Amino acid sequence: MSSRYEVVIGLEVHVQLLTQTKIFCGCSTRFGSNPNSQTCPVCLGLPGALPVLNRQVAEYAIMTGLATNCGIAPRSIFARKNYFYPDLPKGYQISQFELPICEHGWLDIATEEGGEKRIGITRIHMEEDAGKLLHSDDGSGSQVDLNRACTPLLEVVSEPDMRSADEAIAYLKKLHEIVKYLGVCDGNLEEGSFRCDANVSIRPWGQKEFGTRAELKNINSFRFIKQAIEYEVERQIEVIEDGGRVVQETRLFNADTGMTRSMRGKEEAHDYRYFPDPDLVPLVVSNDWIETVKQDLPELPEAKRTRYQQDLGLSDYDAEVLCAERELADYFEACLALHSNAKLCANWVMGEVTRGLNTDSIAITDCPVSAERLAGLLKRIDDSTISNKIAKTVFDAMWGSDQAADAIIEEKGLKQVTDTGAIEAIIDEIIAANMGQVEEYRGGKEKVFGFFVGQVMKASKGKANPAAVNELLKKKLQG
Ligand SMILES: [Zn+2]
Repeated sequence: MSSRYEVVIGLEVHVQLLTQTKIFCGCSTRFGSNPNSQTCPVCLGLPGALPVLNRQVAEYAIMTGLATNCGIAPRSIFARKNYFYPDLPKGYQISQFELPICEHGWLDIATEEGGEKRIGITRIHMEEDAGKLLHSDDGSGSQVDLNRACTPLLEVVSEPDMRSADEAIAYLKKLHEIVKYLGVCDGNLEEGSFRCDANVSIRPWGQKEFGTRAELKNINSFRFIKQAIEYEVERQIEVIEDGGRVVQETRLFNADTGMTRSMRGKEEAHDYRYFPDPDLVPLVVSNDWIETVKQDLPELPEAKRTRYQQDLGLSDYDAEVLCAERELADYFEACLALHSNAKLCANWVMGEVTRGLNTDSIAITDCPVSAERLAGLLKRIDDSTISNKIAKTVFDAMWGSDQAADAIIEEKGLKQVTDTGAIEAIIDEIIAANMGQVEEYRGGKEKVFGFFVGQVMKASKGKANPAAVNELLKKKLQG
C-alpha cells in the first residue's frame, strides 16, 4: 500500500435480530418457509394497517447499545425513508433518522503493534428489512417474497476511524462477537444476518478533509471484506496517481475476481425525504428499563478473557480460543465448575473436544461428551488413576457412548499401575533382555534412557505410572 496516502474507512453493519416475530407485526421471522406465508396487512403494506413496535427489538437495541458503550436515548423517533423498490410494498422503509435509540459509543480494537485503538460508533438505529426478489433463471420474470419484509434490523454506524483493512476487520469481528454473545443475532455472514457496507476513501497524509468515498456493498465474509477494501484502496490510489478523481459511488465486490465494480453513481443517489412516521409514537426508554437490561447483560467476551487470564491463570492464547464462542466458554465453565484444574480443563476443551467437533463437523452445543462427563475423566487424570495418554483412549470411547469415564476405565482395565512392585518386575525383564543398551547407558549414553521408558510403557500397555517408571528405571539402570 502506498505510503503517500492515508486510508479512511467507516463501516455500516446491518444486524438481523433473533426475535420470534417481526418488528411491527406478529408475523413469524422463521427462515425458509413458503414465500409470502408469513405476512399480514402490516408487512404487506396494505393501506390502513398500523404498525406496533415489538418490545423485544427495542430491548435488543438497548442491549447492543450498552455493550458498545453507547448512550441510550430516553426518547427516539421512527422515520419513513421513502423510495420505491418492488420488494418494498409501502413505498417507504420504517427506520430511525434524527433521533436514533443509541449514539456516541465505541469499541476498542487491538492494533497490529500490540496496542489498542478506540473506534467510535456514531449511532445504532432500529429499522425493518425489505422483502426479497426472486429472479427466474431464464429471465422470463421476477417474483417477490415478503416473508422477510418487516423483519427487525439494527444498523450500527461507525465513525470513519479505521485506517486499514486490518483495523476494519478487527472492529467487525469485535462487533460480531458481541452481538453473538448477547444472543441478539446469529452472526451468520453468508446468510446475511450480519451484513457489512464499507465506506472507503484515501487522502494525502496530513490533509484534514476526507477524500471522496466509495461505498462497498454486499460482502459476505470477513476475508472478502478485507480483500474488497484492499482492492478499493489500490484502485483509488491508481485513479489519483493517473491524474483522475475518485467519484462518489456504490461499488460491488466480486469474490471470483477479487475486484470491485461500479453499481451506481452519485447522480442516482437517493433523496429519501425522511420524515417522522405518524403511525408510530416516540419510543420512550425509562432509566429503570435501561438498568434492568444492564443487570441482565451476559458477561461480554472482553471481560471474560480478562477474567480467564487474571483469575484462572490461563494464557492470552487460551483465553482467546475459549472465549471466541460463548457456547465454547459455557462448556469450559460447566466443566471447570466440577473440576478445579483450569489449565487441564482448558487443554482438553481446546484439544480433544475441539478436535472431535471439527472431525465430526458438529457444534459444541451438540458435543457428544457432556461437560459433566469430561469433568469425570479429568478427575481420573488428576488422581493418577490414568495417564493423560490413556485418558485419550477413554475419551474416544466416551465420544461413541453414553458411558462415564469410570465405567470405561473399569471395563477396559485401564487403571494406571502405580504398584512399584509390578513396575519393578517389568523393568527387571526389560533390563535383562537388553543388556547391550544397559552397557551403553552406563557408558554415558543417556539418550538410551528414553528407549527403556518406551519399552516399559509398551510392556505395561501404557498403564504404568510414568513418574514411577522414570524414578525406578533410573535407580535400576545405575545398577
Ligand atoms: Zn406481518
